[in-house]
Amino acid sequence: MKISKIFLYDEPSVPEINISQLADFIKKNFTIDVEVRKNIFSNVKKTTATQLASCRIFNTRKSFEFHSPSAEEIEFEKNSFQNSSKIKNIIMYDGFEFQKILSELIFEAENSANNFHLIFTNRLMCTYDYNDYRYHGRTIICSNPSIISTTGIIEAPAKSKEYYIELISNMAQGLNLESIKKKYQGTYLEYHDERISTIVEGYAMQALFYYLTGEPFCVLEECRLFNPHWQKELLHSQIEIGKLCKKHQKILGDLVLDLNS
Ligand SMILES: [Zn+2]
Repeated sequence: MKISKIFLYDEPSVPEINISQLADFIKKNFTIDVEVRKNIFSNVKKTTATQLASCRIFNTRKSFEFHSPSAEEIEFEKNSFQNSSKIKNIIMYDGFEFQKILSELIFEAENSANNFHLIFTNRLMCTYDYNDYRYHGRTIICSNPSIISTTGIIEAPAKSKEYYIELISNMAQGLNLESIKKKYQGTYLEYHDERISTIVEGYAMQALFYYLTGEPFCVLEECRLFNPHWQKELLHSQIEIGKLCKKHQKILGDLVLDLNS
């Protein structure tokens, strides 16, 4: 697959993405033209709010079925289009349905296979896993458009086992949870963490590798294509290491040669 242009859609409520820095990063590493858009929801259809509200997940133990949304839920989606910082609580959506709805918002003239679209959202996408029969939070849905959830970056890779154990045992004793959060501060990402701008570069690479090679992830923790299950792994791959492994650096080099040939 060849890409001639990449469109990035910002999530205005999360300025830590630093979308112009990401655009420069992609231009530099993939040598592809990048255009930044303010928000995917500037081009909504009449049905978009209802569609979004219909793919919300309320029971994480059940596979996907459409929800019949209330008028309030539809109104909430409408109000969140231009100001998604209204989304205070974590609302879960089926990731694949969400991706389908957003793909309908791409301008028709730009909706061709050589244009790649990458959308940021603070809504939390989840996918149902038939191995353990439950929904899990996801950071990225790889497709075209690809979706990266900033809430997913913070919530999907788990914090350390020690953190949860201490949190639960202290909760039972009614102790101050803030002191535990403080103790573990820095070992996981928090909302509006400034490291998000670096981490989204790694996820953007995963989305692009998926589209260009069919394989978004790497098995090595020392690579930005590593798919982390823990916050510790995420911070290790993206912040401490912050580069591709040798194999993927070579693949990227070949891709760039091919894109420019
Ligand atoms: Zn790798």
